[in-house]
Amino acid sequence: RIRVRGLEKSFGDRHVLRGIDFDSPAGTSTVVLGASGSGKSTLLRSLNALEVPERGVVAIDDVEVDFAGLATGRAGRRETERLRGQSGMVFQAHNLFPHRTVLEDVVEGPVIAQRRPREEVAAEARALLDQVGLGDRGDTYPFQLSGGQQQRVGIARALALRPKVVLFDEPTSALDPELVGEVLAVIKDLASQGWTTVIVTHEIRFARQVADQVLFLDEGVIVEKGTSDEVIGDPREDRTRRFLSRIL
Ligand code: ATP
Ligand code: MG
Repeated sequence: RIRVRGLEKSFGDRHVLRGIDFDSPAGTSTVVLGASGSGKSTLLRSLNALEVPERGVVAIDDVEVDFAGLATGRAGRRETERLRGQSGMVFQAHNLFPHRTVLEDVVEGPVIAQRRPREEVAAEARALLDQVGLGDRGDTYPFQLSGGQQQRVGIARALALRPKVVLFDEPTSALDPELVGEVLAVIKDLASQGWTTVIVTHEIRFARQVADQVLFLDEGVIVEKGTSDEVIGDPREDRTRRFLSRIL
C-alpha cells in the first residue's frame, strides 16, 4: 500500500512536483504517464527517497515519512533509508557488474545490504531467475545476455530484496523494439501475482492492460487520475488527450 500526500520538490527555482496526492492499494499497479520533463522520474525517486522532497508525506505499508518534518543528520537519514528499504527500483538500463554472474548479481544485495545467509538467498534468487525466464542463465555473465535478458536480471535483482512495492522507470525504453515484449510480459506477470507496482512507461497498450490506476502528470501536477479505461480510454482533460494523441 502506498499513500502520497502533498509532495513538493524543487531543483533550485524549478518547482518539479507541485502537490502530488495518490493512493495505491496493496496488490495494484499504478501507471504514471506524462511528457518528458513532467516529473515522472522525480516522483518515482521520491517514493523511495532517492530524491528528498521539501514537503509531503510518503507512506509505504507501515513506514511513513513526513518530509517537511524530517529530522536533520543521522536521524533523518535513518528515516529515509527505512523508506528506501520498502521499495525496489528498476531503471531504464541496468548496470550489471561485468565480472559477476547473473546469480551472483541477484544474490549480492540481500547478502550485503540485508545480511541474509548466502545459501538461503541463492535458493530464492534461482527461483526468481526462473520466474523472469532466466532459470538456465544463472552462471552466465552480462555480456552474454541480450538487453531484454539484462533487464529481466534487473527485475530479479530488485525482487530479491523482498520489497513491498516495485517501482519501474521506463523499463523498456532503452531496448530494441523486438525485446520490449518479453520484459513487459514479466512485469505483467508480477502484477497479476499481486505485487504492488508503480510503472512509468510510454507503452500505452501495455499500460491499458496492466494498470489498475493511471496517473497523468503534467508540469508536476496530476491533472487526471482514474482507471485505465477512464484516463486512457476516455480522457476528460485536454492535456491528457493531446499527450495520448502524440504517443499513440
Ligand atoms: P522523462 O520522460 O524525460 O524521463 P520525467 O517526466 O521523468 O522526464 P524528471 O526527470 O522527473 O522528468 O524531471 C522533471 C524536471 O526536473 C525536468 O525539468 C528536469 O530537468 C528537472 N530535474 C530532474 N532532476 C534534476 C536534478 N537532479 N537537478 C536539477 N533538475 C532536475
Ligand atoms: Mg524520467
